[in-house]
Amino acid sequence: MCPATLILHTEISQGLNSLKLTLHQPFMSTQPNITLNDGNVIPQLGFGVWQVPNSDTAEVVGTAISTGYRSIDTAAIYGNEVGVGRAIAANSLQRTELFITTKLWNDRHTTAHRAFDESLKRLKLDYLDLYLIHWPKPRQNAYIEAWKALVKLKEEGKTKSIGVSNFTVSHLKRIVDATGVVPSVNQIELHPGFQQKELTAYHAEHGIITESWSPLGQGTLLENASLKSLAQKHGKTPAQVIIRWHLDRGYIVIPKSVTPSRIRENFDVFDFSLDADDLAKIAALDRKDGRIGDDPQTANF
Ligand code: NAD
Repeated sequence: MCPATLILHTEISQGLNSLKLTLHQPFMSTQPNITLNDGNVIPQLGFGVWQVPNSDTAEVVGTAISTGYRSIDTAAIYGNEVGVGRAIAANSLQRTELFITTKLWNDRHTTAHRAFDESLKRLKLDYLDLYLIHWPKPRQNAYIEAWKALVKLKEEGKTKSIGVSNFTVSHLKRIVDATGVVPSVNQIELHPGFQQKELTAYHAEHGIITESWSPLGQGTLLENASLKSLAQKHGKTPAQVIIRWHLDRGYIVIPKSVTPSRIRENFDVFDFSLDADDLAKIAALDRKDGRIGDDPQTANF
């Protein structure tokens, strides 16, 4: 490199470095982020770890992080918070570059502060990005008490954001009436076979971000003829078409896989878009009885 080129190169590098500093985003700008109702930012595409054995979790989450995922969704009941914590400790990213969610299990609604501390200890973290009440468990009727505890945890700075999971409109109304605090997120079963139109409309009206669990219908949708033909049209896989659909709907989406090639495939969704015709085809897959998991009103665990 001649001296003049070297100076120019150095100046450009310095310029880029200062640009990076001034434009510093908490998460990679190459992937979409969503701003929650409390101003915090979450990557729209995250990685779920339900049913990943704790002993495999560090490696699986490590693969997800090196693929580019920055948001990890775990829960106390998954039994793999320790593995998630190991993956976080093992990589060189700053804590602020990762977004970690865990959830309060049903038997801890009246002891949420202690349950939170136990989760944090297992994760080896000193704060959480998002803490969710996992299920409302309405017959126990303690979810308002749990929500009050989460509001306090946020006020104390122990978790940046708070939300719920598997809440229906009536559960949402009750916690907001009791506290005046609207959850940032409601994580619910949602996939093309079960699109939850009423609940997602309510979320949109009240500034609650919808987060889709079992976004691929636990894999059951991947052989659907309509989705297969859309995949062929875009030169993508059915899983990628479904994940793109969640992103286009404005949902946070947290697909799970333990297979490195699928973990990467599920992240390779930022180079295509669905058109109106595609969206109409996917809208037609919605079924009232398309629920795969438990109904929050009747779930008894
Ligand atoms: P999912 O819809 O993400 O499907 C996962 C399954 O699909 C995998 O086990 C694999 O069999 C298959 N799969 C994934 N990618 C694939 C690909 N590219 N090609 C082919 N097959 C593929 O199901 P999930 O794990 O139930 O949901 C995702 C996450 O949502 C969970 O890991 C968890 O974090 C969260 N979740 C939350 C709740 C809740 O009550 N809040 C309930 C269930 C799941």
